[in-house]
Amino acid sequence: MTDTIEKPSLNFVEQIIEDDLASNKWDGRVQTRFPPEPNGYLHIGHAKSICLNFGIAEKYGGGGNLRFDDTNPIKEEGEYVDAIEKDIRWLGFNLDDRVLFASDYFEQFYEHAIALIRAGKAYVCDLTSEQTREYRGTLTSPGKDSPHRDRSVDENLDLFQRMRKGEFPDGTRTLRAKIDMASPNFNLRDPVMYRILHADHHRTGSDWCIYPMYDWAHGLEDTIERVTHSVCTLEFENHRPLYDWFLDALDVFHPQQIEFARLNLGFTVMSKRKLLELVRDGHVEGWDDPRMPTLSAFRRRGYTAEAIRNFCDRIGVARFNSRIDLAVLENCIREDLNKRAPRVMCVLNPLRVVIENYPEGQVEELDGINNPEDASAGERKIPFSRVLYIERNDFLEDAPKKFFRLAPGREVRLRYAYFVTCTQVIKDDNGEIVELRCTYDPATRGGSAPDGRKVKGTIHWVSADHAVDAEVRLYDRLFTEENPDKTKENTSYLDCLNPESLTTLSNCKLESSWRSAADATTWSDRIVRVQFERTGYFCLDPTTSDTKPIFNRTVTLRDTWAKMQKRS
Ligand code: ATP
Ligand code: MG
Repeated sequence: MTDTIEKPSLNFVEQIIEDDLASNKWDGRVQTRFPPEPNGYLHIGHAKSICLNFGIAEKYGGGGNLRFDDTNPIKEEGEYVDAIEKDIRWLGFNLDDRVLFASDYFEQFYEHAIALIRAGKAYVCDLTSEQTREYRGTLTSPGKDSPHRDRSVDENLDLFQRMRKGEFPDGTRTLRAKIDMASPNFNLRDPVMYRILHADHHRTGSDWCIYPMYDWAHGLEDTIERVTHSVCTLEFENHRPLYDWFLDALDVFHPQQIEFARLNLGFTVMSKRKLLELVRDGHVEGWDDPRMPTLSAFRRRGYTAEAIRNFCDRIGVARFNSRIDLAVLENCIREDLNKRAPRVMCVLNPLRVVIENYPEGQVEELDGINNPEDASAGERKIPFSRVLYIERNDFLEDAPKKFFRLAPGREVRLRYAYFVTCTQVIKDDNGEIVELRCTYDPATRGGSAPDGRKVKGTIHWVSADHAVDAEVRLYDRLFTEENPDKTKENTSYLDCLNPESLTTLSNCKLESSWRSAADATTWSDRIVRVQFERTGYFCLDPTTSDTKPIFNRTVTLRDTWAKMQKRS
């Protein structure tokens, strides 16, 4: 677990780039790419890769392509393409005309394959996938040559062309690189370059019935785009010899592959297969369910792009895998929202309070500070009247000495308002508390007593007649285990889903000024981020209706009580 992170001035990828610039290795050019497979939505791990690749391009005045690695027609969809683009733009990277598709290079891949066959470095193999696996050998024993390994160039050309024409059914033949069946690196044991797959592709339709494998396609994509630094995650380290072999065999522009550690985050999963499963099987409400680690979920939850970029920057880029504490991310979010989120009061679990000595029908407007961290955010008027709501758990009938909130006979400060004292507790037939009777001290307007008397607690409240009804959704971590991928035997990550990851409160009472908290520009996009005093940062859900706003809790506040007590 990485808790505190020290950031060196240059990460190791930037160091490589600066060395290359100094030696003029790439004629002073820097070209990177972010190559997602469009088979799911982007998650926070992808954000790390995006910030690294596009950040480098920005920093060194180079180019950074968004290249869809869309070589597998079966799992890929246009929906994902759109979502990925949207998320990257939201993160704040300008894509201009740098959105590229590997499928646009299919013809070039094919030509390169022909060249490799001509050079005697690739052959058509008729083994089934099962046989191919058998022939591959094991970690301790070398593989066996395919019986088709020594086909003539002419026969290979003929068969490969017929594969493309669609003469053979799925799975009957492959094109393989002729490398070394005894290599200690499995990836070099005559890897498959093409497979037959009669399936329509989201962009090329039915043009192709052979599709390139990842390792074959990826280096070619990089060379076609003249990528200088092909940055990928550590699991591709032992694919690098194959990446290099293909590009050397073709004698083409040869980018440098550099691997870095992928981001793992506590209490969530990051594999797209698992995220898809969570969505498809209804464990969450969709890719943008605010409990997901996807960028669309983070956006919906109220995380800001700036905070996510700051997080990616702060965790740094390393060569060894680690798991980042969720708290590191949440702190970045808090830090950012603390500066930008206006404060309002919202009572999540309301308890009615009648101020008995406050005149019926009277309303006064009290001054509230919109953001103590930002004087330019100004002040607002908060209506106060005889009937209020306070938070149910801010009252205890049998309160211990250390309970500084409201209790029978005790005095507490209502934020921005008055000192009130609880005089009576009213219960229903079941003994449940339904109302409190209090008195207020008119001399304490604004929250301090002229006689210098102190109260220990300050609680939030809203005026009953002025409150807006709201629904509030509280989110907790999606899993109960820090590493859901590593569960006990015979259990799956699904067994540690947190049953309490979502709490919906449908009877919340919100301060009426909340809407003015959103400035006009963000209101049109329904991006409203506020701090509900003492309960956390919240964000208006985009599905919200005009009659009853829905707020998602972005993140809790930390040390709320410590702070409140210092102020009083
Ligand atoms: P899978 O979940 O199946 O492993 P993937 O997340 O690697 O897939 P890609 O679409 O291939 O999906 O990822 C695009 C790019 O994002 C790749 O360069 C990959 O290395 C990088 N990437 C993916 N996950 C992470 C992560 N957790 N941290 C950093 N980079 C990541
Ligand atoms: Mg991948």
